[in-house]
Amino acid sequence: MSAGRRSALITGLTGQDGSFLAEQLLADDHAVTGLVQDDGADLRSAGHLAGRVDLVQGDLLEPETLIAAVADLRPDEIYHLAAPTFVPDSWRHPARTLSAIVVGTATLLEAVADHSPQTRVLVAGSAEMFGDAPESPQREDTPCRPRTPYSTAKLAAHQLVGQLRERRGLFSCSAILYNHESERRPENFVTRKITRAAAAIKLGLADELTLGDTGATRDWSFAGDMMRGCRLILAHDTPDDYVLASGIGHTVDDLLHVAFAHVGLDPGAYVRVDPDLVRGPEQTKPVGDPSRARDRLGWAPSVTFEALVGRMVDADLEQLAAAV
Ligand code: GDP
Repeated sequence: MSAGRRSALITGLTGQDGSFLAEQLLADDHAVTGLVQDDGADLRSAGHLAGRVDLVQGDLLEPETLIAAVADLRPDEIYHLAAPTFVPDSWRHPARTLSAIVVGTATLLEAVADHSPQTRVLVAGSAEMFGDAPESPQREDTPCRPRTPYSTAKLAAHQLVGQLRERRGLFSCSAILYNHESERRPENFVTRKITRAAAAIKLGLADELTLGDTGATRDWSFAGDMMRGCRLILAHDTPDDYVLASGIGHTVDDLLHVAFAHVGLDPGAYVRVDPDLVRGPEQTKPVGDPSRARDRLGWAPSVTFEALVGRMVDADLEQLAAAV
């Protein structure tokens, strides 16, 4: 552990969240190491940070690589963000989803307990774990009724964080993250799919957008705000779990209208529903109550839903125009 400059290990550096987090930590003079599957490969969302971050090879499905990274680096902070994130995929690969998320988290926590007990650990949890919860908005103590292999895995990982905190005295915290988006989101997520389509249609590059259930509700925030919240969680005096959410639910239809209005178009003329994209009905609206994070950490999102969607559409307009 360094005496002066603080050190952080990020799993999932190359994803949307890892790239925003690494930018923030570098700006705050941290030494940042990213755990990556292939240290010779493209850093994807974190490509612009090449040379400013150290890399260590590791894979959630190869526990020895996680243990070695923790034991060798013994960083001040670990942000465990790496995980398969696209929920529908977990139906095709339930075993791999559980291994990566549950065994991966358990391995990392055990490695910290054994080799670097002073390290503070933030594990990125998911609002998906609440599933058919009996209330909305959900708080940290809302009972969970997960509905997918992904959410079962996320719930188990979340519980391990609290158990190791209580029984082995780790400074381990779970950030229960509601949906968080940006122009770095892949297009399989509905936000980016819609902002990309609005931009493409505006530029005359597409004339149709197919969607699933546009009545579905989500609590969307900007990914950079969520990562700021994760840092505040680890900077607090005492470890705990926190819901990070805007507290406001919007439907996919709302998202569609804000995105298309941003380019002066009416989505009605372009959208088609594809029954194959419709998922099972949701009983409980996944909306979070961020009171604990607001009251204890002073955290609140800085980017509104409308500003987030506008920012994403603008980025897509710019990218697509540059590619033409
Ligand atoms: P999730 O909350 O992690 O599942 O994030 P997604 O962006 O994948 O989905 C958010 C919501 O949008 C879900 O309720 C989906 O059913 C709904 N949705 C509607 N149409 C689509 C679509 O075309 N693609 C995706 N990914 N989601 C869609």
